[in-house]
Amino acid sequence: MGCQMNKAESTGLARHLASMGLESVKDIKEADIVILNTCVVRQNAEDKVDGMLGYLKGIKHAKPEMRIAVTGCFVTDDLRALNKSFPHINHFFKPGESHSFDDWLLSESIGSLHGSLEKLPLSSSSLSVYIPIIQGCNNYCSYCIVPYRRGRERSRAPEDIVEEAERAVEEGAREIILLGQNVNSYGKDLVNGTGLGGLLTLLNHIEGLLRIRFLTNHPKDMSLDLIKSVASLDKVCHHFCVPLQAGDDLILKAMHRQYTCNDYRSLIRQIRQMIPDIALSTDIIVGFPGESEDQFENTFKVVEELRFDAVHIAAYSTRSQTYASEHFPDDVLSEVKMQRLRRLEGLQKEILTEINQQLVGQRMEILVEGKKGDKWFGRTFSDKLVFFTGSRNYAGQLVSIHIESASPWSLQGASFI
Ligand code: SF4
Repeated sequence: MGCQMNKAESTGLARHLASMGLESVKDIKEADIVILNTCVVRQNAEDKVDGMLGYLKGIKHAKPEMRIAVTGCFVTDDLRALNKSFPHINHFFKPGESHSFDDWLLSESIGSLHGSLEKLPLSSSSLSVYIPIIQGCNNYCSYCIVPYRRGRERSRAPEDIVEEAERAVEEGAREIILLGQNVNSYGKDLVNGTGLGGLLTLLNHIEGLLRIRFLTNHPKDMSLDLIKSVASLDKVCHHFCVPLQAGDDLILKAMHRQYTCNDYRSLIRQIRQMIPDIALSTDIIVGFPGESEDQFENTFKVVEELRFDAVHIAAYSTRSQTYASEHFPDDVLSEVKMQRLRRLEGLQKEILTEINQQLVGQRMEILVEGKKGDKWFGRTFSDKLVFFTGSRNYAGQLVSIHIESASPWSLQGASFI
């Protein structure tokens, strides 16, 4: 369940269990071992985990020898309470707690991972591979549960990441996507002082690797060094995801975001000066507790002014056990949240129509990911989705495309070759 981070970790677990000789089954009822990787970032995600745990209880009742392990953000420090509430679960382990999982595998005579989960090869045979580089978050935004569940920031050693990336490329990957809840905080806890810029420099040397992306960033951790590295390294894509969350200073303060709207504006100005063709995406939460009509208008104006290449908009929903849930009543009506969300979506659609229209007639290089129907598709260096026609097999190749038309969400073109 959940984000790319969970998917990457699940892939790693699956690969290692397969390397021990275990096979995956399509029907969960046939499984001898079930590992549930959970997400609780929103209350409805936690409700789904509860539902899944209930479902597994029924299955285990019919097959008592089934062993079930649960990991991910559902797992709190209070293992005693979890074991009491869910006696049908054999083992709980927090994300990345390899030793606990390893000990359990041994105690169940399943085998051993022989090492840390952070070192698991997460690559798959796919073209684009996720690689988690930092776990946890130190920021404690008032609406977010992640720091309480994933703990404080812990960066992986750069040599482990490079080794994993090299292996992924040997297995066919052409693009790596570095992941972290707060990816641009990478390295702050490392003694050797390698930051994200340094790590990107190391990865940029890997032969056969064509592109490097990373997400998600916190505006306050976007250093000049990192922007310079992205500007100078030829494989690092010109795309930053920099979540704004709100365009009003009082709301930003209540969110504990640690920057003002003007700080954010200056950052965007600086990034655009140093990397003129950068594509910027952001996240916005509408209807945060106490958000007035005027405060929403402030957010609307910032989105209008900064003209992002993508805006991911969410309506606020209370997440229990967070600062916001305990201190701020969820007082914006759901209809009002939805109206605000739709207004922002409408604005972004207009902006994207204009931005993408300007790309018509240009020649762009895309990394081809696959084929849908009779069209090939891939992404540009600045993360634009492009569909094109062509007569060869282009999968995994960099192809020059002439852009012929544009919609708000994608570009269409034809191959030059
Ligand atoms: S930066 Fe804020 S929103 Fe993002 S994971 Fe950390 S606490 Fe949550």
